[in-house]
Amino acid sequence: MPTYIHLNHQKIAAGENRLINIHIARLPTHTPIDLPVQVIRGKEDGAVLLLMAGLHGDEINGIETIRRMIFDQTIQLKRGTVIAIPIVNIYGFLQASRDLPDGKDLNRCFPGSANGSLANRIAWFIMQEIIPQIDVGIDFHTGAVNRTNVPQVRCKTGNMTNRELATAFSAPFVLNAEFRDKSIRKEAFRKGKNIIVFEGGEAQRLDERSINEGIMGTYRMMHHMQMIDDNIPNEPSIWLKSSTWIRAKISGVCRLCIAPGQFISKGQLLAIITDPYGREEFPVIARKEGYAIGLNYQSVINAGDALLHIGIPE
Ligand SMILES: [Zn+2]
Repeated sequence: MPTYIHLNHQKIAAGENRLINIHIARLPTHTPIDLPVQVIRGKEDGAVLLLMAGLHGDEINGIETIRRMIFDQTIQLKRGTVIAIPIVNIYGFLQASRDLPDGKDLNRCFPGSANGSLANRIAWFIMQEIIPQIDVGIDFHTGAVNRTNVPQVRCKTGNMTNRELATAFSAPFVLNAEFRDKSIRKEAFRKGKNIIVFEGGEAQRLDERSINEGIMGTYRMMHHMQMIDDNIPNEPSIWLKSSTWIRAKISGVCRLCIAPGQFISKGQLLAIITDPYGREEFPVIARKEGYAIGLNYQSVINAGDALLHIGIPE
């Protein structure tokens, strides 16, 4: 554990709990935009864990997950340090948008640049000031609006450290996810830091199950890293080697016949698509077996729309 965490020209010593507001930009009105970062340090030596949410500004479950851990339940850190950034994309949060005002996806802008677009500048700050100080991280995400993700960890399951962290987190599902170019997960990995992604629920809507799974999984991971003493045992995760989307072959009104997380057999009825006047019905049948890890709750659909995200077990 470093003697001090350095942030915004401040030094945070062991045993301290401090909120640091980092000035990152201004709105066009000249209102300053700060990025609040909470640093919680145990008295004893240990790992440094980054908790970050709201990289996509409308994905609010992770924001609430971190808020509850820090303010409602107050993490009882025995060893090490938690660096928490509850809302990375403040602009997106204000506008209920995934992206920055210029349409940029912040998670496709890493490692960023000091003088680039707003997204590049935020990415640059995180890569320069935060990532070098951490050991591991959890990046909290959700599905899009009307598209829910069953609570799941996404990481490179072939990587030993990723696998170990996901095993400790013990979410209902773990999905193998290759690195995406210019994502924080990939760029942090290039610097030797392992960040796993937790996905749960949908955008713009709080989901209690996802929030609870996020909190419990984080505590289990912290226990694994000897940061806290108490453990919360859980069922082992279901590991998924890959995933595929079932898409609508025809436009219409869709009724899903599958519950979140449900196991799906080959030949099973997944959904029924009807025309709004009730003259025609088209069943959607499973061609593969797997688990329903993501569902589109939008009922009025067009041909080609994604209906169900199916995880294929290892
Ligand atoms: Zn996201």
